[in-house]
Amino acid sequence: MSVTTEVDAHDGEGLAADLSERYARTRQLVAELAVRHGRRPEEVRIVAVSKYQPATAVTNLAGAGQRDFGESYVQEALAKQRVIRRPDLRWHFLGRLQRNKAKYLPGNFMLFHGLDNAALALDLHERLQVKSQMLDVLIQVNLGDEPQKGGVTPGGLPALAEHVGGLSGLALRGLMALPPFELDLAHKQRLFGELRRLRDAVQRQTGLWLPELSMGTTDDFPQAIAEGATMVRIGTRIFGDRPERVSP
Ligand SMILES: *Cc1c(COP(=O)(O)O)cnc(C)c1O
Repeated sequence: MSVTTEVDAHDGEGLAADLSERYARTRQLVAELAVRHGRRPEEVRIVAVSKYQPATAVTNLAGAGQRDFGESYVQEALAKQRVIRRPDLRWHFLGRLQRNKAKYLPGNFMLFHGLDNAALALDLHERLQVKSQMLDVLIQVNLGDEPQKGGVTPGGLPALAEHVGGLSGLALRGLMALPPFELDLAHKQRLFGELRRLRDAVQRQTGLWLPELSMGTTDDFPQAIAEGATMVRIGTRIFGDRPERVSP
């Protein structure tokens, strides 16, 4: 590690260098964990979660080679996309989507990690049909017994998967989960294993092919990779602490 002076720490280039170093270390660790669990490094994709981060941070990380970015607020994401203007970036929408914002996903995001109800699925499908477009989606499963949080219950999953699988505008690719953050790592790992088993069961029941498992964040991506994650959604570990939310 280089010695940083106080001045360096505050200039843009110093921050960009810190970012690419954290990114390089994260990529290295994700690759090592993948191999340790019998997979190839490219089978675990990093989605860099850039919510609340300024457009310059996204541009800097793209400069270091990252292409997948995750956002959780539609207006914030669209504003950044307009400034960044890089068609090579792949934008993911994470988490809760209000139905009145559904119209913004098609064309602006390549994958929606967070579909959790039939009404929203139908809404998206109808919008997509009008434009002859398709959207890749992951169903979010609520594993933590937290009814107020997003996600379909494990019991409701097979019916929702059947429903989504029957909508031509949507391409169901797999499942996503975000366990309650206060759980210990061993508990979270059990929940990640449960998501994988649910995926296997739904595949058998419906005949749908659901290769993607989006699970694991800064705190628990090693446990998620151990249980078969194909996408890890990492924010703070790459970008540093999130700044206060700027106006959406
Ligand atoms: C914010 C967020 C993340 C990233 O969290 P970090 O702890 O910063 O890695 C991952 N997934 C979802 C759904 C999020 O909202």
